[in-house]
Amino acid sequence: MNNAIYMDNNATTRVADEVVAAMLPYLNERYGNPSSMHTFGGDVAHDIARAREQVATLLGCHPEEIIFTSCGTESDNAAIKGTLTMFPEKRKVVTTRVEHPAVLTTCRDLERHGYSVSEIGVDRAGRLDIDQLGFRVDDNTAIVSVMWANNETGTIFSVDEIAELVKARGAVFHTDAVQVVGKIPLNLRDSNIDLLSLSGHKLHAPKGVGVLYVRKGTRIGTFMHGGHQESGRRGGTENVPGIIALGKACELAMRHLDEENTRVKALRDRLEQGILSTCPDCFVNGDVDNRLPNTANISFEYIEGESILMMLNKFGVCASSGSACTSGSLEPSHVLRAMGVPFTAAHGSIRFSLSRFNTEAEVDFVIEKIGPIINRLRELSPFVPKAAAR
Ligand code: PLP
Repeated sequence: MNNAIYMDNNATTRVADEVVAAMLPYLNERYGNPSSMHTFGGDVAHDIARAREQVATLLGCHPEEIIFTSCGTESDNAAIKGTLTMFPEKRKVVTTRVEHPAVLTTCRDLERHGYSVSEIGVDRAGRLDIDQLGFRVDDNTAIVSVMWANNETGTIFSVDEIAELVKARGAVFHTDAVQVVGKIPLNLRDSNIDLLSLSGHKLHAPKGVGVLYVRKGTRIGTFMHGGHQESGRRGGTENVPGIIALGKACELAMRHLDEENTRVKALRDRLEQGILSTCPDCFVNGDVDNRLPNTANISFEYIEGESILMMLNKFGVCASSGSACTSGSLEPSHVLRAMGVPFTAAHGSIRFSLSRFNTEAEVDFVIEKIGPIINRLRELSPFVPKAAAR
C-alpha cells in the first residue's frame, strides 16, 4: 500500500472500498450486455437502472434525466455541441474566463467555426458579475455554460440565480458541476438548470464514467450515434462496472455530505490557518466566504509552485500547482490570471484539495513541513526583495 498524504482530490480521488466491491462482480460474474434479450443481460440492465436512480437521488432529479457518459469532458462537450445542433439559427455561446478547458477549449474551437463566444470575467476574489453576464445573453445566444464551482480555487458561483436569468432570456443553461457533486447538497428539481456535467473520478468512483443530466423537455441532439443506449442520445455498449461504481459512489456521497461540510471543511480550515500563520507573504486565492469545503488555493510570494510541490513530494505529500507545465514553459493558471493575481504570485500558488480520507495528523504533518520548505526556497530565490528576506 502506498502511504502518500493525498491532498489532490480535485484532480482525482481514491475509489472507495465499497465502490470497488460493488463494481467487481460486473467484471467477472455479471458481465452480460444490458441490451441482450436473455436474463443474464437483462439482470445487468436492471442494475444499471438502479445506478441511475442512485445518481438521480444525489442530484435531486428524475432517473430518466441521467445520461451516462465516459467523463466530465465528454459531458461538457455534449452539452454545448448537442445544444447548438438543435438551435442552428443561434450562433452565440456565453461562458466565463475561468471554466475548465473542457468548456473553454470547446468554445474556442466553436469560435474557429464561426460562432461568437462571450467570456465573462471575474473579480479579484474570483466572483462573477451576474449583471454583466445578463447583458451578454441575447436572442442569438443558444447556450450559457457556467461552472458551479471552480476546480482551482473552489469558488462557488450562484448557478441557480444565473439559470433563472438565462431561462428568462430564452437560452439553454449548462453547468459544469464536476467539482461540486458530493461536496455540497444539490436539488435540481427546484432549479432552472437544463444541463449538468459530473465526473465519477472526482467523487470516489473510477475514471472513465460521467453523467450528463438533461432536464426533461430540454432539446439536445444525439451526441454519439450508434445503438439505442441512453435513450438513443449516446450510443455504445455501457461501461457497466463504471456505471455501477458511480451509482454506489453517489449513494455514499449522499451519506457523507454532512461530513464534507463539517469534518473535511474543518481540516481544510486547519490546514489553511496553519500555513498562513507559519509562512509569511502568502495569501488565499478565491472567494473565502463562498467556497467548496475541501479546497485551499494559496499563493506563496517569490517562489515557484513547482519547487514547493517537488519538496512536498519528497515527504509523500501530493498537491498541485497553479501552473501547467506545457512543453517546457510554465504558464500560470488561466483562472488566477483572470482573477488578476499578479504573475509571480500565480506562479507560486498551490492547491490543496482534501477528501473524507484525510486525517488531522496528515494536516498537521503538512503544516509542520511547509514552513521550512518555504524558508529554504526563499533563501535560494533571486526574487525575494531585501526587506522581505528573513
Ligand atoms: N470540469 C471540471 C471543473 C474539472 O475539474 C474537470 C477535471 O478536472 C473536468 C471538467 C474534466 O473531467 P474529466 O476528467 O472527467 O474529463
